[in-house]
Amino acid sequence: MVRVRFAPSPTGNLHVGGLRTALFNWYFAKKNDGKFILRIEDTDTERSKIEYENAIIEELRWAGLDYDEGVDKKGKYGPYRQSERLDIYKKYIDQLLKEDKAYYSVYKGEEIVFEGNPLPNKYKTDSNDNYSIVVKFKVEKGKIISFNDLIRGLIEFNTDNIDDFVILRSNGVAVYNFCVVIDDYLMKISHVIRGEDHISNTPKQILLYNALSFNLPEFAHLPLIVGEDKTPLSKRHGEVSISYFRKEGYLPKALLNYLSLLGWNANEQIFDFREKYKDFDIKSVSKSPTVFDYNKLLWTNEVHLRNNPIDEVYQNFLDWSNYCKIKIAAEDTYIKRVIEISRQKVQTLKELYEFSRNFFIDDFEYEEEFVKKYMCKPWFKEVIETTIDQLQQLDYFEINNIENTLKQIAALNITGKKNVFQSIRGSILGKLVTPGLYESIKVLGKEQTINRLKKAVD
Ligand code: GLU
Repeated sequence: MVRVRFAPSPTGNLHVGGLRTALFNWYFAKKNDGKFILRIEDTDTERSKIEYENAIIEELRWAGLDYDEGVDKKGKYGPYRQSERLDIYKKYIDQLLKEDKAYYSVYKGEEIVFEGNPLPNKYKTDSNDNYSIVVKFKVEKGKIISFNDLIRGLIEFNTDNIDDFVILRSNGVAVYNFCVVIDDYLMKISHVIRGEDHISNTPKQILLYNALSFNLPEFAHLPLIVGEDKTPLSKRHGEVSISYFRKEGYLPKALLNYLSLLGWNANEQIFDFREKYKDFDIKSVSKSPTVFDYNKLLWTNEVHLRNNPIDEVYQNFLDWSNYCKIKIAAEDTYIKRVIEISRQKVQTLKELYEFSRNFFIDDFEYEEEFVKKYMCKPWFKEVIETTIDQLQQLDYFEINNIENTLKQIAALNITGKKNVFQSIRGSILGKLVTPGLYESIKVLGKEQTINRLKKAVD
């Protein structure tokens, strides 16, 4: 049975690299009919925060990456939060000490005052806080540690380059390299899929697997994500947190579509990741660093925004507005129609909102350019009053009739055709760049359109 995990440390916001790791694990689990597990690695007690953990969980939900077991889901192998597993780690530390595969190191300040096993009694007294005591793992020198990475092939390390390393800190909390081995083993993780930055940890982990007589999982290290300048992607290149992309109005499906391409040659640029897992093959993931291209992400978003089913985009739009605490007070069908006529002209949900905001509010301000070029002109009142009059006579308020009516008004030569159309446009939506005029009038409806036109000549 394939079992994989995403194991974030809740020490900061989820960023694109983390979500890409989660996604590739999810792909692998789905493709192989396996299980996907969320494990929270919060043994760095100072930097770990429950707010970050909650945000990670919420963002995975937003992204649509559902997991089978995790801190907020039942499972046979819990608890799934490392801070709740300290006793388990302690048991295995004791085992290593008993087998002489680990030893105590006693520090006084920076200086080591004792190393060995067992720990002499004089250091055991709790009252003596002059000392800090850690447990270190003994590394046998002169050995080659190798593993066959599913993406990179054979990787070898010589243990001459690995020093004995701490496995239990002086505060009684085991370190990442230790916990990860115990958890992956006990949670029956079959494949460890994670970022390339963890390659250097792998030999230490393998030494621990061997010392504890645990079977090794398979390893796959995903390529580094870099900026245009080929240095690891960071804030210097731009925003990298998922919350940023969410706020900016990226669709989860677009973001995950784009993240899929960071290292995986998916043979197409645009797809629905929830279907695409069928093609996923971890062996076809590249080992070379992959460049994060903000423009391509934006383009991917635009394509999804324009082509995804309207009900889905509508839901994305509502989620986005809730997330940004923006209230959109309108009926579902009306909002959907507004989206339908606006989405071809924008690239993000945020732009969609800015572009279409005046459909949802009556007391919008008129754009300055509209006031100056049209509203203040001597012919404006006549154009708008004629429009009110003509539209009022329409029994069928359909695009064709609206179009014919407006064209007739333009032909009356009250002023030029462009002046007529822009005057009407600005009157009903406050600005000069809007969705198609006939469509906008149709969506606003007869009553609303006429009210708005009246207000403009009030
Ligand atoms: N907690 C580690 C991190 O956030 C992940 C460790 C792993 O996947 O082995 O980088």
